[in-house]
Amino acid sequence: MRILLVEDEARLAETVRRGLAAEGFVVDVARDGFAGLEQAASGEFDVVVLDIMLPGMHGYQVLRELRAREVWTPVLMLSAKDGEYDQADAFDLGADDYLTKPFSFVVLVARLRALLRRGAPERPAILTAGSLTLDPARRRVARGDTTIMLTPREYGVLEYLLRNKDDVVTKAAILRSVWDSNYEGDDNVVEVYVGYLRRKIDAPFGLTSIETVRGVGYRLVEAA
Ligand code: CA
Repeated sequence: MRILLVEDEARLAETVRRGLAAEGFVVDVARDGFAGLEQAASGEFDVVVLDIMLPGMHGYQVLRELRAREVWTPVLMLSAKDGEYDQADAFDLGADDYLTKPFSFVVLVARLRALLRRGAPERPAILTAGSLTLDPARRRVARGDTTIMLTPREYGVLEYLLRNKDDVVTKAAILRSVWDSNYEGDDNVVEVYVGYLRRKIDAPFGLTSIETVRGVGYRLVEAA
């Protein structure tokens, strides 16, 4: 089993490399984001352990670029506790697992074995409604050939609507799915975001795909 460890802290990298080698893994080490990306993109590894704070290229950029190149090797991300990113971000960006430094070596090995058992994930299916497409793997939204830039919140609302295509969804359901569960504002915020979405995915194309179902919520349909 080949593991790529992308870690710039030399001492930690060497400790982990030795430990994993003793567990029977073959370990290559990359010391910055660029080298990590190039080696990971070779597809020769069974799992990639990717630090977040890296010189050259941030771990999240490495992960995003790797998935954009359609490399689906499982990735376990490492981060410091006080990082600006958290676990939710890591999973959102397509990491398969996540450990906060300092971590226990035993836990790392257990997580790696679990990832190896699971194998490379399937490429997530592209969601469509007529000419509207959303590619969860690349987080790319397009109307026909036109790429549409969405904020993370707009993207979340659209993904939820697309996953429930042709069904009426309530504002409360959208709120639960897209906003933090501790969010305490009222659900009018959903209306605001649906408005933003319409201005990006429908209005410029003269189409209507998000219908308002009065007193209930919204329904996304194939635009006529
Ligand atoms: Ca680091």
